[in-house]
Amino acid sequence: MSDRRTMTDGSPVTPDHRDINPATGQQKGYVILSAEERAKGFVRPIRRSYKHLTCGSVTTMGLAIAETYAREPGFYSGTFCVECRSHFPLAQFVWEGTNEAVGS
Ligand SMILES: [Zn+2]
Repeated sequence: MSDRRTMTDGSPVTPDHRDINPATGQQKGYVILSAEERAKGFVRPIRRSYKHLTCGSVTTMGLAIAETYAREPGFYSGTFCVECRSHFPLAQFVWEGTNEAVGS
């Protein structure tokens, strides 16, 4: 039985993955559902981009993270904005081109 959660490259979750890279504001790494878990099927469409309501900017994420949202919409509590270079609660974001909250 493999681990349900991995880093985006499929490696085991590291304790320091939330460390922030000062150059980008992004975490050292992001946790996703494992490939095996994502292969069980999606309950939402795969959406790659979301808008930060505070600044109006759109951020596009990697496919594995988008698939994690599609498999388990409540997996994350917050996400990153490329314009603000910081993480914020999901309530501040909608899927691009919609009024649907990210994480719903
Ligand atoms: Zn922003």
